[in-house]
Amino acid sequence: MARAAVPGRLTAGRSGWRVARLVERRDETATAGTLVLEVPGWPGHLGGQHVDVRLTAEDGYRAERSYSIAGSAGDDRIELTVQRVPDGEVSPYLLDGLAVGDPVEIRGPLGGWFVWRPADTAPVLLVGGGSGVVPLMAMVRARRAAGSRTPFRLIYSARTGEDVYYADELRRRVRDDQGLDVFHLYTREAPADWPGSPHRITVADVNSNGWPADLEPACYVCGPTGFVEAVADILVALGHDPSRVRTERFGPTGG
Ligand SMILES: Cc1cc2nc3c(=O)[nH]c(=O)nc-3n(C[C@H](O)[C@H](O)[C@H](O)COP(=O)(O)OP(=O)(O)OC[C@H]3O[C@@H](n4cnc5c(N)ncnc54)[C@H](O)[C@@H]3O)c2cc1C
Repeated sequence: MARAAVPGRLTAGRSGWRVARLVERRDETATAGTLVLEVPGWPGHLGGQHVDVRLTAEDGYRAERSYSIAGSAGDDRIELTVQRVPDGEVSPYLLDGLAVGDPVEIRGPLGGWFVWRPADTAPVLLVGGGSGVVPLMAMVRARRAAGSRTPFRLIYSARTGEDVYYADELRRRVRDDQGLDVFHLYTREAPADWPGSPHRITVADVNSNGWPADLEPACYVCGPTGFVEAVADILVALGHDPSRVRTERFGPTGG
């Protein structure tokens, strides 16, 4: 993908596209990074929403992908965390090709179902696989920003300890944010101090680390399609009402 060529408008046009600018990029893991974008006139967002990112090559070819909003970084700034998909068209460009100061077109915030609102008081269970933790982290951050005491539990499955996004911040949040618990699972290699052996998420993991169905928690599940379907089935088998299980599937593109 060639450099993004974008028109000079700074607010959303009728099409909804806005010109954002990359102001900072930081590594989360060896294969994922967080982009801080300045978006003049950003209207604000809810934890769980996403944006569409559009890149336009010099020959006019365009590619569009969705990315969850990981959080805010102050006025008119949003953060996206992007996992590099080997041979992907857009994600390697966002991580390696886009330079600080470059423009990129975005549209959003999008999505009104997979969202958590600070006024919601039901206990919350978040279950994320891989980069599926991104919109769930946005909810954890929104809870903190609102000073909410709504009980939150996050079950986060990653391949290895090195693949955990936001590891330091999650440790701090668990220490400082009353009523937030985080449980890690590893599918390939677990850190030496983690009890148990690597495995894909099971009924026992969700049963032990989630909420009982009779508390009627709001459940948010995000990750690759297979992960999301497995967890949704587990939650329903454990007695959770399907109407309280919200899911978001990441890729593959067109899948
Ligand atoms: C609502 C929504 C929110 C999303 N939020 C995020 C986010 O916060 N962070 C993030 O990193 N991604 C997120 N995604 C996924 C993202 O939109 C892209 O699909 C991803 O970045 C790959 O795009 P690409 O152009 O690099 O790869 P492509 O050129 O589209 O794909 C290259 C190859 O990789 C395969 N592939 C693509 N995506 C995946 C995948 N997820 N798993 C396995 N194989 C894949 C394709 O089938 C293809 O063979 C989200 C998707 C949706 C629908």
